[in-house]
Amino acid sequence: MNEATSKYCQSCGFKNLATTKFCSECGDQLDKSGNVAKKDSISTEKGLGIVSLVTAILGFTCLPGIGLIIAIIAGYLTPDAQKNSYAKAGASIGVFTLGTALFGFCLTTLIVFIMDISRGGGNAVFLWILAILGIIISSLGVGFHIRWLRKKPTT
Ligand SMILES: [Zn+2]
Repeated sequence: MNEATSKYCQSCGFKNLATTKFCSECGDQLDKSGNVAKKDSISTEKGLGIVSLVTAILGFTCLPGIGLIIAIIAGYLTPDAQKNSYAKAGASIGVFTLGTALFGFCLTTLIVFIMDISRGGGNAVFLWILAILGIIISSLGVGFHIRWLRKKPTT
């Protein structure tokens, strides 16, 4: 796509044809001031965003866990990631997958402990604390990420 015939969406950073009125990525209106034919100086940001998305996808296949963690880091390191749909998608896949996994694991552990009490067990205070911490950390992480996604880009 030629630079002169393209414009960027202010909401998600997607590059659209200059003739379009609404972003083909997020549907936002395009002819607000300030999003006309900006130069493609954001190649590093694009690159980091793509790294984030690719590692997130790898995190589901050959790099479980680690791929998702790299995806989150790359997404968060992307300058103005809120304008970069790759970075947002990659970091979101990482955060929501890991957050759900940790939350589910810790909740299951807690339920097992609670059932254990009726059988006279469940005395491992240390494991109780770990499970509760896991639930709190995963909830905070997902909450933080949602706020990060809504953060206004600086430019
Ligand atoms: Zn858009």
